[in-house]
Amino acid sequence: MSGPVVSELLVHDDAVRANTAFFADRTGGHLMAVLKADAFGHGDVARSVVEAGARSIGVTSIAEALAVRADGIDVPVLSWLNPVDADFAAAVGADVDLAVGDPALLAAVARAARSIGRRARVHLHVDVGMARDGCPPDDWAALCALAREFEGVGDVRVVGVMGHLSSADRPGDPQNTRERLVFAAALRTARRRALTPAVAHLAATAGTLTGVGSGYGLHRIGAGLFGIDPSGTTTLRPALTLRTRVVAARRVRAGTGVGYGHAFRTTRTTNLALLPLGYGDGLPRAASGRAEVQLAGRRRPVVGRFSMDMLVVDTGDDAVADGSVATVFGPGQDGEPTVADWAGWASTIPHEIVTTIGSRVARVHRTAGPATDAGGTP
Ligand SMILES: *Cc1c(COP(=O)(O)O)cnc(C)c1O
Repeated sequence: MSGPVVSELLVHDDAVRANTAFFADRTGGHLMAVLKADAFGHGDVARSVVEAGARSIGVTSIAEALAVRADGIDVPVLSWLNPVDADFAAAVGADVDLAVGDPALLAAVARAARSIGRRARVHLHVDVGMARDGCPPDDWAALCALAREFEGVGDVRVVGVMGHLSSADRPGDPQNTRERLVFAAALRTARRRALTPAVAHLAATAGTLTGVGSGYGLHRIGAGLFGIDPSGTTTLRPALTLRTRVVAARRVRAGTGVGYGHAFRTTRTTNLALLPLGYGDGLPRAASGRAEVQLAGRRRPVVGRFSMDMLVVDTGDDAVADGSVATVFGPGQDGEPTVADWAGWASTIPHEIVTTIGSRVARVHRTAGPATDAGGTP
């Protein structure tokens, strides 16, 4: 690759495809690819996941769903998180399914569908135990009854029922049993109210890999497509490499304070290399004092506090040339840090690392193998 690019996020489409194919197989083909938050920071991968076996796509907002449609993707798309005044007419007009967890939202969807002479495809969303999104179980029967009324006048069609588990990454937690029971009861209630959803879906990545969300007709998989397994049971392929280049290097004496507050002070003569990435690009400041990057053939500590735009790397006795490539994280097979390492250094989860890489970093999609080319030129 050539050109003036300094920092870039390589997206290994082949890894996304391989993970997608794994989950398509594991779910018997009943795979909804969850591409919210810019596909967990991986950018435009909708076509890859559909080609690799995803049957449908799930996102949060209508804007995300319309972007998938604008890409020319024609599989079912579900949007599950919208305010009551969202543009439901645009969604219904673009054949976007809508998840609904409360009566006011359902009424708004029905009204929008009627206004354009269409029938909205709705997934009723029950809160099985997170007190977050979805309909509280106490209000579920009324929501089902209202949905049936709107079905009767032709405004909506309830095509699905969904729930989301709070604790699927801990399969032994009895909360999973409680939540499965809530979901099963919600399905019975829906059927008693004469609803005939074609599909029910409860499991995300962890619930699929541990099995606690299995037994229903669809699996909503996000993290797993991008190599993240919250359950720690399965080896998936990480799909990102973040690289940048040294913009300056210097040799300093023992006792030199580095960066804001001199949180790090050299204890010997050493070499420092400056990288043009910081917390403004999504590298967590909480990892200050712990993080490492791969530079000039091995892992090197990032020293001092992270700045908004810069990191300083201690390269010891090695003077590193300006323009040298540093790998911040990658799949890990060449010794470079991984997203999981970064999550550990920042006391967070890998999901947060991959979804917060900023817009200053160019996304570059790669179909070839996840080579990290450490030492090469981006
Ligand atoms: C994010 C999300 C998913 C995907 O979860 P993963 O653990 O990333 O697979 C599924 N369902 C809902 C409702 C979500 O918000």
